[in-house]
Amino acid sequence: MRSISIFGVTGSIGENTFDLIMRGGGPAAYRTVALTGARNIKRLAEMARALDAEIAVTAHEECLPDLRDALAGSGIACAAGQGAIAEAADRPADWVMSAIVGAAGLVPGMQALRHGGTLALANKESLVTAGPLLMATAAKYGATLLPVDSEHSAVFQALLGEEKAAVERVIITASGGPFRNFTLDQMRAITLAQAVAHPNWSMGQRISIDSASMFNKALELIETREFFDFAPNQIEVIVHPQSIIHALIGFCDGGIMAHLGPADMRHAIGFALHWPRRGPVPVERLNLARIAALNFEAPDETRFPALRLARDVMETRGLSGAAFNAAKEIALDHFIGGNLPFLAMAEVVEDTLSRLSRQNSLQIAATALEDVLGMDHLARKTAAEAVKTWQQGR
Ligand code: NAD
Ligand code: MG
Repeated sequence: MRSISIFGVTGSIGENTFDLIMRGGGPAAYRTVALTGARNIKRLAEMARALDAEIAVTAHEECLPDLRDALAGSGIACAAGQGAIAEAADRPADWVMSAIVGAAGLVPGMQALRHGGTLALANKESLVTAGPLLMATAAKYGATLLPVDSEHSAVFQALLGEEKAAVERVIITASGGPFRNFTLDQMRAITLAQAVAHPNWSMGQRISIDSASMFNKALELIETREFFDFAPNQIEVIVHPQSIIHALIGFCDGGIMAHLGPADMRHAIGFALHWPRRGPVPVERLNLARIAALNFEAPDETRFPALRLARDVMETRGLSGAAFNAAKEIALDHFIGGNLPFLAMAEVVEDTLSRLSRQNSLQIAATALEDVLGMDHLARKTAAEAVKTWQQGR
């Protein structure tokens, strides 16, 4: 029986993973090692009971008594805190889903790789902040790393059986989000409610806002560079409002392979779950006649400067991805808190990167996880200063 763990099981990716596992037979087909969540204790306990997990872990110490109550009599162990999540990742499992949001997903993912199983990676921040370390750790321990971001799963699938040297370019698609047709003036007044309402995908709050600002696509450019090791100038973004094509590979003979699928993350999750075979996944089948048209347009880096900033990160590499992501997380916190306008997020990230670049700290390559965590910490502090500067400038 295959053993599994799901980190971030109560989130959008976590729920979709849980759905596939339950449809695939649940506890009769899988032995569940660890499930982790944050504040939604009721749901975490429900899922842990449904899968008869060995351990359920909440990220927050103050939620532990509630989790203990919710699991009373089940025989399921419980724990709390980031340390406990890392320890849960130290329990070997054959297949591990990394679906915590943000830089908090890095440590458990790295820990899980050391057991040499399969890590299904939804947490794109792991690759953005520590790509080379993550890939080296997977190689060192013989672990399999599978992309779960829809675009990267699409690239992975379109590359199967192909020679990497024959690839000219990799194109990932972007829906363009809710503000695709907004003018810069309209973008100055964007509210939180507008930013979380994604036209095509149902996702967690943070990634939905990142999609609206195209910070999500910026992270995905870096993710593509780190996972597949193509040169930055081989990687492109095209806006495709229908979100039917997820990625395209252009080959040296002029041919292009495209990956199409419904906007349902269970396709990419299911692909990673069944890998190296293909198995049935209960997503809607595309009716191409009804879709009728697929549209494309060039991305606008003036209204969506995150894309331009990502280009710098792809060139610099080193610790710049960790800095970029941390600054973005701080700017996002301030936008969600109502303290920073939508467009100012990119200004704060750019200012943070230029402050850190003046200290010559961005191009240094990480030799250990501590280097990445150190930059994450420094960049959060620097970004908080950049936010203050921005607010004083008003
Ligand atoms: P979400 O916000 O819906 O869920 C996040 C999960 O992480 C929840 O279980 C939450 O309890 C947990 N969590 C939050 N903060 C935590 C912390 N500090 N420590 C430990 N656990 C914490 O997010 P999501 O939309 O499911 O996205 C998860 C990851 O997958 C992100 O990295 C995102 O970029 C990536 N991703 C998501 C989608 C999607 O369709 N939702 C698509 C592609 C990639
Ligand atoms: Mg994606």
